[in-house]
Amino acid sequence: MSLISNIIRPEICAQSTYHVPDASGMVKLDAMENPYLLPESLQQELGAHLSGVALNRYPVPSYQALKQKICTRFGVPEGYDVILGNGSDELITMLSVACARPGATALAPLPGFVMYGISAQLAGLNFVGVPLQADLSLDMPAMLAAIEQHRPALVYLAYPNNPTGSWFDEAQIVQIIHAVGDYGVVVVDEAYQPFAPGSMMARLPEFANLIVMRTVSKLGMAGLRLGYMSASAALLNEFDKVRPPYNINVLTAAAAEFLLDHLAVFDDQAARIRGQRTELMAKLQSIPGIHAFPSEANFILIRVPQASQIFNKLLEQQILVKNVGKMHALLVDCLRITVSTPEENQLFLDALKTALLNQ
Ligand SMILES: *Cc1c(COP(=O)(O)O)cnc(C)c1O
Repeated sequence: MSLISNIIRPEICAQSTYHVPDASGMVKLDAMENPYLLPESLQQELGAHLSGVALNRYPVPSYQALKQKICTRFGVPEGYDVILGNGSDELITMLSVACARPGATALAPLPGFVMYGISAQLAGLNFVGVPLQADLSLDMPAMLAAIEQHRPALVYLAYPNNPTGSWFDEAQIVQIIHAVGDYGVVVVDEAYQPFAPGSMMARLPEFANLIVMRTVSKLGMAGLRLGYMSASAALLNEFDKVRPPYNINVLTAAAAEFLLDHLAVFDDQAARIRGQRTELMAKLQSIPGIHAFPSEANFILIRVPQASQIFNKLLEQQILVKNVGKMHALLVDCLRITVSTPEENQLFLDALKTALLNQ
């Protein structure tokens, strides 16, 4: 097809489409979604609130009210603002586009969040992945050597990391921020902050090259598509120039403003999920042949004998998890399981035991 090769960049032709499997009828444990719905009364109130939204109008592009509420509710430091994205996926795109000077590089530990690499390639950046250690912690000598060699414009650290669930040492993050220095920014991606023991948000004022990125997706609003990031005013000012002016639609903005007044509901759900993570972890560790890696996120990475076989046997029992076994050499025979309700976690455990027996 010469038309396609005449018009489409070769690196795009070489990529495959981001695949999302069909989950109808499945116990869905593949995408780190919060399994809980809003309480009935809150659903009704939200409906009434949204019915008043003027759909004929464009959003107010400053998003001042929503941003103010995010800053207050999520502990953005005094004097710091946020930029909003249509999911943090769009924020990652904005970072890539803004930093895609000729020859520029984005760097992240691997295995990591796939969008860092995809987005970098789409924007024309080089992408350098630095393998984690076998225990899934940062390989600091390798990270520092790669930073020295490539002088990356963007360094991503998912904190906790996806798909491993591992928690990086805060002192190591600070060391990386210092090593990157004036050459680039360090993006600490706190998508799993509701389940994590710490955050870099309060430390923003210490570092001119630190960006803290978050999303409401894993907290229980994945369908809204709303991410935010904070950094110095000088950085936000530049990144805001590549943001599409009306990127947050009026329904998302109105729903988020309403729901942020009811954060206790989501905080309570996150606390239940953290409790269920402890239970699921203990039960997984008691199954012979299974290795469960420590997790500070709302998912658990496990190593099983023959991940593809187990994955298929789970599918046969209507349980959808994520097979990450082919993503990276460190993840051979690994599956990633979202922590869900006690009932769904038990369905998964029963199905896993059945799958192991029939091997
Ligand atoms: C899920 C996830 C995101 C994406 O969040 P959205 O706001 O839903 O786009 C970003 N970073 C990491 C590490 C994630 O796991």
